[in-house]
Amino acid sequence: MNKYFSIFNQVLSPITPGPSSSNTSAPARISYICNQIIGGIPKQAVIEFSKDGAFPATYIGMKSDLAFINGLLGKLPTDSDFDKAYENAKKEGMQVKFEIVNDFKAESMEAARITLITKNDEKFIILGDSTGGGTFRIHEINGCNVDITGDSYTLLLFCDKDGIDEINIKSIIGRFNNINSYNINISDDICIIEIKSASPFKKKDLDDLSNEKTIKKISVLDLLHPVAFNKNNKPPFYSMEGMIKYCKENNKSPSEAAYDYEVAISGWNRNEVYEYARNLVSIIEKSVVEGLEGNFTIQGIVKPHAKNIDNFFDTSRFIDMGFLNKAITIATGVMEYSNAGGTIVCLPTGGSSGIIPGILFGAKDPLNLTDQDLVDGLMVAGILGVLMSEDNNFNGGEYGCQAEVGCSSSMAAGALAYLLGGDIQQVFDAASMALQCHMGLLCDPVGGYVQVPCIARNMSGTSIAAVSANAVMAGFDVVVPFNEVVEAMVDLGKRLPPHMKGCQGSGICISKTAKNLVK
Ligand code: SF4
Repeated sequence: MNKYFSIFNQVLSPITPGPSSSNTSAPARISYICNQIIGGIPKQAVIEFSKDGAFPATYIGMKSDLAFINGLLGKLPTDSDFDKAYENAKKEGMQVKFEIVNDFKAESMEAARITLITKNDEKFIILGDSTGGGTFRIHEINGCNVDITGDSYTLLLFCDKDGIDEINIKSIIGRFNNINSYNINISDDICIIEIKSASPFKKKDLDDLSNEKTIKKISVLDLLHPVAFNKNNKPPFYSMEGMIKYCKENNKSPSEAAYDYEVAISGWNRNEVYEYARNLVSIIEKSVVEGLEGNFTIQGIVKPHAKNIDNFFDTSRFIDMGFLNKAITIATGVMEYSNAGGTIVCLPTGGSSGIIPGILFGAKDPLNLTDQDLVDGLMVAGILGVLMSEDNNFNGGEYGCQAEVGCSSSMAAGALAYLLGGDIQQVFDAASMALQCHMGLLCDPVGGYVQVPCIARNMSGTSIAAVSANAVMAGFDVVVPFNEVVEAMVDLGKRLPPHMKGCQGSGICISKTAKNLVK
């Protein structure tokens, strides 16, 4: 089944406390689903990370530990007491342990094995991966393969392996409307029937199922993304060439094409898509305001600086960079707010969440942008993200910082070219140029915090986006088209060695100062 990505699910999301989409939001989602699989809060939880993966270096700095605990407590990342995870676990009588092990081979750089003992002494061993930008995949429960990604309503029926022949699968599936897929997964011990739907399951149908003797346990899993995947929804285009053709043949602007895309994928109407994007812009705006105020403390290495930078541009000691004076200050502020646990929109990741706000809100006054322009610009950034995400999951742990800061800068460059009146070709060319400028950038966060060099790179990524948009509007020839630059970036990312992908073996994080800081 071809799975088309949604602008809101895979690119302009999640809405989460910082600092990281793949290390904060995704772990929270994985363990929230674990809570639903086992049917409540466990009494014991052991969360193991492969020593060869990225979690061992980052799980404290990027608050993955708090995220895992909160999810197991049945809390979503946006619940207000995120930082009280250990305290709340104690109150609920949940013992929790984190261990670094070398006896399971991680499928990705950010993988966890979660062993849970329920209050009824049942044992569950669940394998889950953070797959970038807040997306995740739970791929094994008690030795049984599953494929849980949170973008469908999902039902798990735990059955006796020997009783599976007695179950009439067709009659079970026939009860539900809008089924995307179903799978019968059998391990040595159990059988799990996994049913995914584009609509919520009805209580009556679930009650009827509980009368089936061979079904021992039913787990109903929430939709964790804004858009429910629907296999019947097909997009109007799914490539750079397709979008250019669609815009030209239908006389559509890049933003109109982006709305049409998300309407088709989500099944929402145009107004619903617009309103969802407008809400994202409001959340971004709040993070901009809070970031510039800087009334918060940051755990880790840095202190809030955006306000000082803002004030500096009122002095006479700087070279005027035009709108970038404000744009880089905003990018810094949003990243600092994210690091203080403020709620951000990952655009497309927590580590790159300052760049698009910097470009949109930095350009707002100089270009006299309306609220609708900001929403339209965000949608253009989003559709560029979709067209670069098929093989790329915006995960520094998988592809290096080129896939986080580089992709965000590319999306922002395209959005700015559009807001400057650029046509669809200029939008893609600006996006191509910004990504070219980030090719090969490694992921090397000092001490596992999303601070150094991440905040500085959000400033430079914002600047590169602006340079790229202006250069292309001036007629600069980027030569290599956007889709080929994306392919080259993904290919390079796959071949980068682990020490260049967040595992603390090279780059800024191994400098003498960095090592002293984390001692
Ligand atoms: S170095 Fe880049 S990819 Fe790595 S954590 Fe920082 S922002 Fe993310």
